[in-house]
Amino acid sequence: MCCPNRITAIVIVTVLCFFIACSKETKTPVTTTIAATSANDKTTTTASSTPAKTTTPAKNPDTIQTAPPTNLSKGLCCKTENVIIVVIDGPRYSETWGDYTLKNIPGQFELYHYGVLLGNFRNMGTTNTDSGHDAICTGNYENLENTGQVLPQYPSIFQEFLKSTGKPAGKAWVVASKDKLQILGNCKQDGWAGQYMPRTDCGISGLFSGYRSDDTTFAHAKSVLATYHPNLMLINFKDPDYFGHANLWGSYVKAIQTTDGYIKALYDLIQADPTYRDKTTFIVTNDHGRHNDNVADGFISHGDDCDGCRHIEFLAVGPDFKKGIGFDTPYEQIDISQTVAKLLNFKMDYGKGKLITDIFN
Ligand SMILES: [Zn+2]
Ligand SMILES: [Zn+2]
Repeated sequence: MCCPNRITAIVIVTVLCFFIACSKETKTPVTTTIAATSANDKTTTTASSTPAKTTTPAKNPDTIQTAPPTNLSKGLCCKTENVIIVVIDGPRYSETWGDYTLKNIPGQFELYHYGVLLGNFRNMGTTNTDSGHDAICTGNYENLENTGQVLPQYPSIFQEFLKSTGKPAGKAWVVASKDKLQILGNCKQDGWAGQYMPRTDCGISGLFSGYRSDDTTFAHAKSVLATYHPNLMLINFKDPDYFGHANLWGSYVKAIQTTDGYIKALYDLIQADPTYRDKTTFIVTNDHGRHNDNVADGFISHGDDCDGCRHIEFLAVGPDFKKGIGFDTPYEQIDISQTVAKLLNFKMDYGKGKLITDIFN
């Protein structure tokens, strides 16, 4: 007989060593910070104060490694009942989130505390007004003629939403300073052309009537929200683009500040309205940026593939999104339609974009 006590002791020591090794491993999980680098120091610092972390469990043959469950992955999304998209026409990123002082967008910086920012968001198609708005609304990059002569090929979020829900046209709206954006209400696709069209209020009095002032659009947007309570709405403000083309730097910068005030005011209006409060997703983005200073005529124009033209804003506040955080994951303009479709529970039959998963709770 060979000393059973010794064997027992060896077994106990071995088991103890195993547990100690395991406990050390689980106490030092791999932690990856996925939060937050927008293109400037100020937002990075703020975002980092509440970093989002994914914890990868220590390797264990008995467990399957999975990401922490989210409301999205648990099928609990979405609380959103309404989506309002504000498109500021043509500010350059270097004058919005790319300016570390954020002096031109204090309203959006305030909203950022309740919302989520993408610092690496781009128009990867044609960087003009009609094509950019088309990409936002249909999830397709098309090189559209830019004066309103040509409709998008594919159905928009508005048409898909109205078809899916059977709601009346007044529950989806396009309100724009530029008359040519009336094209967002329709498309060329068989079975969709002339069908499920949203209400539009664009320019002085519709297509080919000319641009109107942003303060008129601001007033009309407030009136539409109060009168119709649309579930889905896009609002376009033109002045950063308008004054950029006019080569008026001071007016261009002032227009970014003025439209920033409209954004904050519209958000406050929504949160003050019981129909919208805490069940509305509010998205701020651009159709395109403008040339970098060393490209062509700089801030005056846009339309090519320089990063000044491609890099645009994406800020979103809503009941299904994270709060006070930024991500540098690359996303692009066509991804907005897919994300809106998820929020309002319909499908984009022809959209090419992907869901912006990072921003969801
Ligand atoms: Zn534009
Ligand atoms: Zn450019």
